[in-house]
Amino acid sequence: MSFNDLQKVLDERKTQSLYRRRQLLQSPQGAVIRVDGKTLLNFSANDYLGLANHPEIVASFKRAADEFGVGGGASHLVNGHSHHHHQLELELAAHCGRSRALLFCSGYMANVGVINALIGKGDGVFQDKLNHASLLDGGLLSGAAFQRYLHNDVNSLAIKLARSSASRKLVVSDAVFSMDGNIADLPALVKTAKAHDAWLMVDDAHGVGVLGKTGAGCSEMYGLSEEDVPVLMGTLGKAFGTSGAFVAGSEALIETLIQFSRTYIYTTSMPPAIAAATRTSLAIVQKEHWRREHLSLLIEQFKGGCEQLGLHLLPSSTAIQPIMIGAAQTAMAVSDKLLALGMQVKAIRAPTVPVGQARLRVTLSAAHSENDIKQLLGALAQVTKEIDIEYPC
Ligand SMILES: *Cc1c(COP(=O)(O)O)cnc(C)c1O
Repeated sequence: MSFNDLQKVLDERKTQSLYRRRQLLQSPQGAVIRVDGKTLLNFSANDYLGLANHPEIVASFKRAADEFGVGGGASHLVNGHSHHHHQLELELAAHCGRSRALLFCSGYMANVGVINALIGKGDGVFQDKLNHASLLDGGLLSGAAFQRYLHNDVNSLAIKLARSSASRKLVVSDAVFSMDGNIADLPALVKTAKAHDAWLMVDDAHGVGVLGKTGAGCSEMYGLSEEDVPVLMGTLGKAFGTSGAFVAGSEALIETLIQFSRTYIYTTSMPPAIAAATRTSLAIVQKEHWRREHLSLLIEQFKGGCEQLGLHLLPSSTAIQPIMIGAAQTAMAVSDKLLALGMQVKAIRAPTVPVGQARLRVTLSAAHSENDIKQLLGALAQVTKEIDIEYPC
């Protein structure tokens, strides 16, 4: 294939209903957003606690910008590691019950940087089939022997670990699977990893802030220590409503990342005002339990309503509630109809999910009201009268 084929490949994507188009968001994130001139109920953001436009967090951001300016100015190892970065690291470590934490500019960079600092040629990485793209990319880039085990299946993992003669073995899993919404069987993964002398890395992008009594995430929910999950990663752009990510673990892990993680070392630090805003966000996560409680009620309300409509949901108890459709074209048609009814629910298609498993990825937020969910269910009832969405098709 030559570069002259670019347009041909793009056209093919269009005929397969797989072409991606960006809409223009003209408002902050929230239960109600403005998109391409239309006011919509928003069921597509990962702002699970409704913090992305919280007035106290916005105020912290502004104050810190006045005090520290806008740009980080340099990498952390040169002179970009400022007061708010440092405090946030200490506070995140305490929140997650870990010895230390380290900030990264994004979850994608954290995953690529951590895996590559820990393993290389001669080592092995074992990943759940449904892991996030950033974890898969990190593993592929590392040069370690790369294996994927069956989704959430520790037997499949154990067989691969037993057969491996790699020197370091790193098991990697999402805590909450981003397109299915189910939670990994972490206690079983911990046991399996330990039995095979492997380290476990967990990506808690969709768990921190939401899971566990104080929102410390999957490790709080399951009571898993630093020894159980030596590498714990979380993101700040989802439930925390800001931007960036962190890795939490032992002193030796964090110092290793500071010395050897290329996506930590060779990049400008995140704007200090983002770190300051995240500190406020963390305080709200810790004290406002009502956000998690309200979200749980909305999840139950939504699941109950979908069941009555005969829609095919996946077994998810989290804010990620996929409605399975099947064909990409049908998923797009349903999403378009919902849009016409004032609901933003994005269709997720291949290659993000397997071919034939296109879905509507509904995400709920503490910013929603019961009435918002009622309206979504009403719109779904209307659309299912017009479009046949039998799944599996
Ligand atoms: C969103 C996400 C990431 C990437 O985080 P960013 O901060 O958006 O780069 C990594 N892992 C999982 C599971 C995610 O859902």
